[in-house]
Amino acid sequence: MQDCLQCGEKFKYKQVLKTVLGPLGYKPVRCIQCGQNHVVTLGSKFRISFAVVAIPMISRLLFYRELSVVGLIFFLLMIAIPMLFILPYFIKYKDGEP
Ligand SMILES: [Zn+2]
Repeated sequence: MQDCLQCGEKFKYKQVLKTVLGPLGYKPVRCIQCGQNHVVTLGSKFRISFAVVAIPMISRLLFYRELSVVGLIFFLLMIAIPMLFILPYFIKYKDGEP
């Protein structure tokens, strides 16, 4: 997980996850220590959209041809949930507006 670029405070997992899963898209993350705003970099947005779109598509082609309840449960347990869990570790931030 990235640290604050201003004061070095480590971002919390939940804080980072919120910036990705917000209903209005990417939100800046504010440091709880110094208040510095950080915005998600373009490269991170690219990685996230790739992970969200490409990985499920590829895994579906590889593991199951027909969509079934078992396949859906398998997908959620083996791919979607672990992906959600590791996603914050791939996000990079740069300085935003204070
Ligand atoms: Zn800070």
